[in-house]
Amino acid sequence: MLSLEDAQQRILAQVEPLASEDISLGDADGRILAASVVAPVDLPGFDNSAMDGYAVRSADVQSAKADAPVSLRIIAQVAAGERFDGEVQSGTCVRLFTGSPLPRGADAVVMQEDARPDAAHPDNVLICDTARPWEHVRLKGEDVKRGETTVAAGLRLNAGRLGLLAALGIARVTAGKSPVIGLLATGSELRTAGEPLQPGQIYESNRTSLASLLRHAGATPKIYPLVPDTLEATQTALQTAFAECDAVITSGGVSVGGFDFVKDAFRGIGGELDFWRVAIKPGKPFVFGRCRGRLLFGLPGNPVSALVTYLMLVRPAILKLQGARQVFLPSHPGILGESLANRGDRRHFVRVVVDEQGNVRSAGTQASHMLGSLSAANGLVDVPPLKTLATGAVVKVLYWE
Ligand code: AMP
Ligand code: MG
Repeated sequence: MLSLEDAQQRILAQVEPLASEDISLGDADGRILAASVVAPVDLPGFDNSAMDGYAVRSADVQSAKADAPVSLRIIAQVAAGERFDGEVQSGTCVRLFTGSPLPRGADAVVMQEDARPDAAHPDNVLICDTARPWEHVRLKGEDVKRGETTVAAGLRLNAGRLGLLAALGIARVTAGKSPVIGLLATGSELRTAGEPLQPGQIYESNRTSLASLLRHAGATPKIYPLVPDTLEATQTALQTAFAECDAVITSGGVSVGGFDFVKDAFRGIGGELDFWRVAIKPGKPFVFGRCRGRLLFGLPGNPVSALVTYLMLVRPAILKLQGARQVFLPSHPGILGESLANRGDRRHFVRVVVDEQGNVRSAGTQASHMLGSLSAANGLVDVPPLKTLATGAVVKVLYWE
């Protein structure tokens, strides 16, 4: 049986990123940038005020204090978005607001809390504090310099990166194509929520949670109808999905039961199995294969097994298809608030709840059909075979959202 790392490497070695495409920034949320963006302009684009106040020559106010203020003549008022072509000469100032361009001649801003009206000279203002050169001035290019690489290829476009690109005036970016991923759920016992259940039937849930995870990873899920447990139905469904999608994820039907048809059906449509079974719990019967250059990920049917195998084995491939640099789940250290034991001989990915202090506890009963502890969990901890991680141990918590 393959180790998790060997399985991951075997899969990633067979994934080639899809082509990239030019898209508008408004459509780029969550997508992977395919070409690094070089700043076309400086940020800020011009020296401007960080405060509501007065643009001054710092030398003019060197002696200013509350009981001996310096009176300066106000020669203009400049709102954010306006421009002023004049110059601040010695003895004068310009009324400014946050974001107003700094006028020529000025080298500092005194905030309005350090100024008061000059009763004797209505055109003047009394400056009650000194200003260091460039105090409260946001300098041109201090944030980003023109020509600098701002967001590198392979990074995921999130709120901060999209905001930076918008601030640079960039309206379109080149991103990896969003792969279309077919989602098939096999099992004659399965029904879709909203339909009545007959005795022995259950509601299907894997397509719903996998579609959510796929969208979070920048992919486009394509959900197919439920597949009953026959070789013919499974072959027909796989045939259709492989014709329409960049990769196909199935759930169920990969174990050794008499009604597990995914592997045979896949071979039947010309697919080549690469490996079956990975030494993890939950998720051992995972299948990986290729059909005419497209990938099959056969997940076990139990909902927790499907989720864990998706996160560990499928998600990296989905991200690599888009050209992502970082394909493995992010992790942060946490401290065990209770011990986590693994009595089995495969490493166990345990659903955990991490509180705001970083204390990690089991999310509840860990059986692979149990969705309650899955919905309570916000992380996974990898517990090695035949090992107990003690209370107080620092562990790596894997996060998927
Ligand atoms: P299988 O991997 O097909 O042997 O299924 C293992 C268990 O998971 C069985 O109890 C199935 O009823 C259940 N199961 C399979 N597919 C799904 C699904 N899509 N949604 C919810 N439960 C499922
Ligand atoms: Mg089944």
